[in-house]
Order: sequence, then C-alpha cells, then structure tokens
Amino acid sequence: MNLDTLNNLTYGMYIITTRENDKNVGCFINTAVQITSKNPIIAVSLNKENYTNQVLKKTKKCALSVLTEKAKQSLISKFGFFTSKEINKFENINFQYIEELPVVLEDTCSYIIGEVIKVIDVETHDIFLIRVLQAEKSINDVPMTYRYYHDNLKGKAPRKAPTYQEEKIEEQANKYQCTICGYIYDDNKEEVKFEDLPDDWTCPMCGVGKDKFRKL
Ligand code: FE
Repeated sequence: MNLDTLNNLTYGMYIITTRENDKNVGCFINTAVQITSKNPIIAVSLNKENYTNQVLKKTKKCALSVLTEKAKQSLISKFGFFTSKEINKFENINFQYIEELPVVLEDTCSYIIGEVIKVIDVETHDIFLIRVLQAEKSINDVPMTYRYYHDNLKGKAPRKAPTYQEEKIEEQANKYQCTICGYIYDDNKEEVKFEDLPDDWTCPMCGVGKDKFRKL
C-alpha cells in the first residue's frame, strides 16, 4: 500500500471553535466537508485525544472559520500544535463572539456556525455531523488548501490530524526534531549548527524553544 496516494486527496484549512463555561476552545483541522445541500450538513473529523473534541461533545455548538492563503504560520501553529487545555489560543488574535461562540476572524475569509447533530465513532477519531445554522463571508480572499500550505509554508500535519503520517527519515545524522510539531533542523542544510543557535532561538514552525528539540 502506498500511503502517499492519500496525499492526492484535497483538503482545506480550518479552525473549529467552541465555548464552555467562559472558556474558549479551538483547534486547527483540515478535514471538513459539506455532506448535504438542503438544510446543509457538514462533517468534520477530530482526534479523540483532542481537547476540542471532548468539549464539543458537551457543548454541541461550534464555529468553523476558513483560513485564507494569507494565514500566518504562527496562527496555524498555535491552533494546530498546542492544546486549549493548557493555553488560551485566543489571546492576541482577532475573533468575535457570534451566537456566543468565539469565531476566529484573523486570516479567515468566512465562517459557519453549526450545531452537532450526530457523532460517529471512527477508531482514533470522531466524525461530527454538524447542521449549518449560519454561514457568512467576512472578506473576499482565497481559501487556503492543504496543498498550498504544504507547498508554500512547508506545513506539516499535526500528530493528531487525520492525515498525519510518520516522518520518513532516511539520513538521521546531525538532525534535530521539534517534539511539538515535528519540524526538523538539519545541520547539513543550515549555516549555523543546532548546538550553536542562541538560547532564545525558537522553532520556526511552532515557536517553542531549543529545549523541546531532540537529536535524531
Ligand atoms: Fe516546532
């Protein structure tokens, strides 16, 4: 089986959010599709280990924001590689409460407000069927596809994403990997050796410090 084949499926780039007891919760997803057109229903897939999954099962209401091609890596990393259980992802980003949900407006072109009507257990993930209650376009910008993210921002799927694949590492010498996002610092390709990077150097993908890297 050639798992690379699955990379030929196309995906978008989204942030799904919800709110429970004054706590804003959300994460990055790439798996959201429209399922029906009349009284539209969409489906999103979320890892069971994901805090947003656990909260959404209780709140049953969510907002889905569509990221544009201008979306910053820092925003994608914040929502993709960290958990709302530990950090407030909404700090210093542009969002607005709509129907009591924190809707991310930063680097997004449209949003959907919906209500969970069914949760389907799919081994490591759950599929949430969501009835669309509101759908608005905030700005006229091009939505980002997963392919665009991969090609232009050199993006990687977070470990819990449905499309995540283990990194293939042919030559592991002199390489250091970020344990949060999987980014690899390769001494052979960089001007400065990893060991010589300043102490305040941070991962270009997710922003954590050198101490979160491990030598391969
Ligand atoms: Fe990282």
